[in-house]
Amino acid sequence: MPPVSDPAPYPAGLRLAGRRVVVVGGGKVAQRRVPALVAAGACVEVVSPETTPAVEGHALSGEITWTPRRYESSDLDGAWYVVVTTNVPEVNRQVSRDADERRVFCVRSDDAEAATAWTPAVGTHGPLTVAVLGSRDPRRSASVRDEILSRLRSGEIVARKDQTRTPGITLVGGGPGDPDLITVAGRRALQEADVVIADRLAPSALLAELAPDVEVIDATKLPRGRAASQESINALMIDRARHGKSVVRFKGGDSFVFGRGFEEAQACAAAGVPWCVVPGITSAFSVPALAGIPVTHRGVAHDVTVISGHLPPGHPESLVDWDAVARLRGTVVMLMAVTILPEISVALRAGGRSPQTPCAVVQDGSMATQRTVFTTLEKLAGDVERHQIRPPATIVMGEVVAVASELSSLEGAGWRDLTGRAPA
Ligand code: SAH
Repeated sequence: MPPVSDPAPYPAGLRLAGRRVVVVGGGKVAQRRVPALVAAGACVEVVSPETTPAVEGHALSGEITWTPRRYESSDLDGAWYVVVTTNVPEVNRQVSRDADERRVFCVRSDDAEAATAWTPAVGTHGPLTVAVLGSRDPRRSASVRDEILSRLRSGEIVARKDQTRTPGITLVGGGPGDPDLITVAGRRALQEADVVIADRLAPSALLAELAPDVEVIDATKLPRGRAASQESINALMIDRARHGKSVVRFKGGDSFVFGRGFEEAQACAAAGVPWCVVPGITSAFSVPALAGIPVTHRGVAHDVTVISGHLPPGHPESLVDWDAVARLRGTVVMLMAVTILPEISVALRAGGRSPQTPCAVVQDGSMATQRTVFTTLEKLAGDVERHQIRPPATIVMGEVVAVASELSSLEGAGWRDLTGRAPA
């Protein structure tokens, strides 16, 4: 370890694309270092008689080369950077000597003082790379890095002036409702937006975090006039984007899962406005999970079908083959189905699904008001009525529900929801 009075290291961002980097040793440390080197585009050669399966995997996929033998001094020929990771002190010292001779910077996992370069704790946030060097205490640098990244992600640190905002429309899926369940990319798109057009089910807590100069539009309150509401949303998005604004169209779950997101993409394309999509965590899979129900489970369900219940069985515009659904043995997840459960239960039983099929109804998934009702297909509609379940609710049907309810009824099963509560 260098004495405290040592000068601080000089930080630099190495541009390693296409440049030779040698990693000596193929164990756990090499395994941790290799992915970032590969991501930087370096031509990585790992020299080591043995490697971990992960390092070997990088070699098999052609991302790096692995030379399966002991280190030789000539391995550093042509190298720009060396990372030494073996646990053989003599080898590590030899590599350091060779690197010094060639004026190649050398990282030493075993001896920070002997190293000529240190690896910072690194993370990225969009186009930014955050690197923290704390020579004596890697845990401290990692936690400072985490703190900076989480504040960037939560919007506590915003450098709006530095942002290179591009006009256009980003379709962002916000997840089932809890603000923690949006993706990092989704959160960043919100931070960078000039205009946010939000649906009712988009996580509203995230809107509260937006900078005061962001124009927030509640899509449910748009005047409909003669145009249908979808058309007025499209017109508004396109108008703002044409005025050079960065627009986020913000929805619950995933925009392309019963979210009409692709209609908006089509409208953008037709108007010649650039658009992109940030996928969200769909409630179809996350709401069951938050209630402790896996939509698949080995040996129990090998298929899962997601159905919109916005049209009842037998409706002339319905595209669902309810008889076929009734014959499936796996999991069925139904969205927007609360009000038509009586018709659905009848159709599924008529098609042959057992009345005893386990079902669960999860209302307000991921919200403080989340609650779950366990029932069976024959009692489903009645129980939903009795418990006064209101939308938004997700219905899960199939044997996975029985597996889950067994577990949640076990004392001390240890399962807690996001807020740390035991299941209701
Ligand atoms: N695009 C959304 C789904 C939109 S349809 C997604 O991928 O999640 C709206 C339906 O989703 C609701 O009627 C309800 O069935 C379900 N839903 C959305 N959020 C929910 C939540 N927090 N809890 C339970 N169900 C939810």
